[in-house]
This record gives sequence, C-alpha cells and structure tokens, in this order.
Amino acid sequence: ISESDELRAFEATGIYRLAESGATFLDPVRILNASYRRFRLVPSAYYSRSFGTSRQGGEAETERTGEASPERKKRKRQPKPRELNEVERMAEARHQEARPLLLSAHKSLLKAKDLLEFLPRMIKEDVRVLDVESNLEKNLVELGSSWRAPFCEMTLCFQKSSGENSEEGICLKTSTPLFNSTISIEENDDAEGEFQDRHYILPRRCCFLMTDLKHVRGLIPDNYNQGYNLIVVDPPWENGCVRQKVAYPTLPNRHFLYLPVQELAHSTGALLVLWITNREKLWKFVEEELFPAWGVKDHTVFYWLKVKPDGSLIGNLDLLHHRPYECLLVGYINLDKETVRGSKFKFLEERRLEISYMIKINPQLVKELLSEYIPGPKPARCIELFARELVSGWTSWGNEPLRFQDAMYFSNK
Ligand code: SAM
Repeated sequence: ISESDELRAFEATGIYRLAESGATFLDPVRILNASYRRFRLVPSAYYSRSFGTSRQGGEAETERTGEASPERKKRKRQPKPRELNEVERMAEARHQEARPLLLSAHKSLLKAKDLLEFLPRMIKEDVRVLDVESNLEKNLVELGSSWRAPFCEMTLCFQKSSGENSEEGICLKTSTPLFNSTISIEENDDAEGEFQDRHYILPRRCCFLMTDLKHVRGLIPDNYNQGYNLIVVDPPWENGCVRQKVAYPTLPNRHFLYLPVQELAHSTGALLVLWITNREKLWKFVEEELFPAWGVKDHTVFYWLKVKPDGSLIGNLDLLHHRPYECLLVGYINLDKETVRGSKFKFLEERRLEISYMIKINPQLVKELLSEYIPGPKPARCIELFARELVSGWTSWGNEPLRFQDAMYFSNK
C-alpha cells in the first residue's frame, strides 16, 4: 500500500497505520463521526477541548497529567541536576523500558510526509467560535447533585419522515428524567435533546446514565449475559492541576475500588482499559490494589504519544515529570483462556503504541484499535465509565456524559 493510499484510507477512517513501527496515528473526529447519521463533529470545536480554556471544555495539557505546557515550561528556570529518589528511579526505569518503542514510533511518523502535510489542515477545517459563556459542564455536575435533580427532564426529539415523497421530517417528542435514569436511543438515527434552553445531539443507538458514583450500581445488568465485553475507565484521578483549574471534580483513589467492574463484565469475559497518569504512586496503587480488587489479569500497556500539528512531540521525551505520553493499562476480567482457544479472538500480549494529535483518545478509538482482542460475542457490548461524551453502540456513565454533546460542537452533515 503506497503512502497516498494510506492517506486516502486515513481521510475516510481516521486511522493511519505506520507500517514501519506498527504504531497507529488516529484522528478522533473522523472516527467519532461514524456515530452520527445527520450530524458531524466540527473539528475546530472538538480540538478546542485540547487548546481552549477549561470553561470551554478545553483540556489544556495540564488537565489530565498535571504537566505544564511547553511554553510555560520554557519560562521556568531549569532545575540543577540532582540524584533521583527511589520513586523517581522506578519511574525512570519504566520510562527507559518504553523509550525505544516511543522513539521508533515517532521516527516512523516523521517519515510519513503525506500525513504530516495533511495535519495542520485537519484541525483548521470549519473554524467555529464556541459559546464559552454557557459554562455547561459545571451545570450538569452541580445540577445532578442538587435538590432539583429529580425534577430535571430532557425533551427528546426523534425525526420521522412525514410522508413517502417528503424530504422533510417531523419531530416526535417525548420527555424523560435526565438524572439517575437510563436514557436509550433505540432508533438507528440521531436524536436531539432539549434541556434548559440547550440543545444536545444524541448519536443513534447510544445509551447513557448520568449519576454520581454513589448510584453507579444502577448500571449492573440483570444477568451476566447482558454484561459488557469492553469496559473503558477514565477516572477523575486526583492531581494538583485538575483541582486548581476545577475542570472536573476528582476523587481519592480508594473510591475506585468500589466500582462494580466485575459485575459489569460479560460472562464470556471482558477487556478492561484504564487510563492512568505517569505518577509512580498511582501505578503502584493500580497494580497492587485496584486490579486485584477488580479481578483484572494479564495486563499490558499501550502508549499514547502526543504530537503537535507539525509532528513534533509536545515536549522533551526524557523530562522526568513532563512526559509527552500517557498510558492505557489493558487487561482481562473473567476470561477463561481455554474456552477462547481456537476462536477468532486474539490474546493481548505485547506492548503497543499509538500516536495521536494532541487530544485524548476517546473510547471509540480504543475499540477500533483493540477490536481483535475483545472477547465474547460480536458486536461487542461496550461501556465507558466516567464518560463525557456519547458514542453510538456504547453505554456511557458519569456525572456529565452529555458534556460534549452540546449542539455547539456539531453541524449538519
Ligand atoms: N473520559 C472522559 C473524556 O473522554 O472526556 C474524561 C473523564 S474525566 C478524566 C473524569 C470524569 O469523572 C469527569 O467528567 C468528572 O466530572 C467525573 N466525575 C468526578 N467525580 C465523579 C463522581 N463522584 N461520580 C461520577 N462521575 C464523576
């Protein structure tokens, strides 16, 4: 396959395979747009999550990782070299293990000239100024925990054809409680939601539950055959910067021990994907306490290397507290290796690496990348815990899964 064929495939699917290193470059907007029939995500609005203010839903680089932006880093005086303490030595050893993989993936990206030429155009498409005053994200979290929550209702509008020869549709309306109640879009068409003068776009065949962690057990299916084969968890880990910016509320680690991950898993097994920051203490907690409590076994690491529009890394690869990559820990729950032997299912053994433009990888990207490693019947049943957006075919749970479904992020197809 020639380079330009690969670029054509990328324009259609959002996935560019860097053959030399085995890494993949991903465009979340292209991948997510497959969730919608009548609407599409506006790239500039979507990418503003990375570059905008936190009120705009923007995740300045610091939000997830606690890492300062490269510009801010430059202003800081460089600290004098000093001896690493024990925790730092462990983090450094982990980094050195991943380093050759990261470097080889980055090298292969820099060789993909057609992709590099395409990237700057990709985010500038259809520039849109967002309604930053709405401060929506805060409203959902606050409203959901207030005395008003049980009285909040969303009006759902389902488009139906008004007649055989008519292009025009009519809107069939129905109302449903917004918080603490599962909302499913069964139709094979996008629906629109209205709540307190805001419009939301809901992808076809999505399902969501907007509650606090206290009510998370409401997600547990009646029997294990209705459980999930892919469980993606993106917890609100505590870290200084998230608290400072009040981008979203965070929770102490011990709270995650009570997530009913085992009860959510399908009887034929599930692939669990957990976002984790580079803090060594967090790795220790996950590997020694959280995964044993959740029953996660045989886990491996995926790396997400973050690059700028020109393909360069967002920061120096070797800076101890400012790594330009994040990790996904991927493991299995309830997997009986004997029963899956001989099936098409592939057991995940190696470390892998994905490269993405400087925006986080969303759950649908994870599914595309890991589809051959998901056990159980197809199509896989998928759930995201602590979601902030909806995906067709997925169940999304958190205290603000509608946050990035605001109509301001979309245009008509
Ligand atoms: N996966 C998300 C995305 O792709 O945008 C990011 C999730 S963010 C790391 C963590 C989410 O957990 C935030 O939306 C935050 O509001 C939510 N959260 C924090 N405390 C919560 C709680 N007690 N119950 C439910 N969700 C909570």
